[in-house]
Amino acid sequence: MKIDHLGIAAKSIEEALKFWADGLGLGLENVHTEVVEDQKVRVAMLPVGESRIELLEPISEDSPISKFLEKRGGGIHHIAIQVEDITAALARLKTQGVRLIDESPRTGAEGCLVAFVHPASTNGVLLELVESK
Ligand code: ZN
Repeated sequence: MKIDHLGIAAKSIEEALKFWADGLGLGLENVHTEVVEDQKVRVAMLPVGESRIELLEPISEDSPISKFLEKRGGGIHHIAIQVEDITAALARLKTQGVRLIDESPRTGAEGCLVAFVHPASTNGVLLELVESK
């Protein structure tokens, strides 16, 4: 397992990239941007070593990220851990009584399979499990 990415909520990806890409110096060359309709967000992935920063911008007012920004104004939204077999990981967590937001995987950015685990079971952190293609 490894940390696949850290999800950071931003009102505007363009604004956020001024710091993360230009200011910090991660650069724009390897930035991947796409809309994930299912989660009502536009995301930008910036590689940092073998992990990534995922900037999340809401594309509608009922996006979970809109609600998060209203409440907190930005910040770390979730941590994503890469697993080899997401279905097996979810089944294992379920038998342990872990509170899952997604009982079965859905399609996330870059066509990966993703599922969220409720913060009530993770010391207050929204956790995303990712199985890459
Ligand atoms: Zn994510």
